[in-house]
Amino acid sequence: MGRSYKPTCRACGNHFRADEGGGRRWELLHCPLCGKSKVIGYKEIGELVQKLEEQFDIPDLDEEGMERASAEYHKGVEAFAGFCPCGGHFSYGVPLRCPVCRSTDLDLGEPWRLYD
Ligand SMILES: [Zn+2]
Ligand SMILES: [Zn+2]
Repeated sequence: MGRSYKPTCRACGNHFRADEGGGRRWELLHCPLCGKSKVIGYKEIGELVQKLEEQFDIPDLDEEGMERASAEYHKGVEAFAGFCPCGGHFSYGVPLRCPVCRSTDLDLGEPWRLYD
């Protein structure tokens, strides 16, 4: 489940739009250096998912196995996402960042839209 925000930057006063979290058909990663987002459709990573399904016996996994599988999955998607033009590596769990001054000191407010 993803959320869309219209944050205000406390450092420079910039208003912008930012999404957080992937949807049902895509993953959303961010550059840890500049905050640029990268969308990856599940279709693009079909091969990766298939490989993991073969590697881990997905339907029969216990909780610990699921955690391992999802860690592998996240690693695989990050590797697929590659590098941002600024040199940062797109990753999960990156805090939202002001595109103007790159501050993470944001007033997120309430999400104005939820998507899945
Ligand atoms: Zn700013
Ligand atoms: Zn970047």
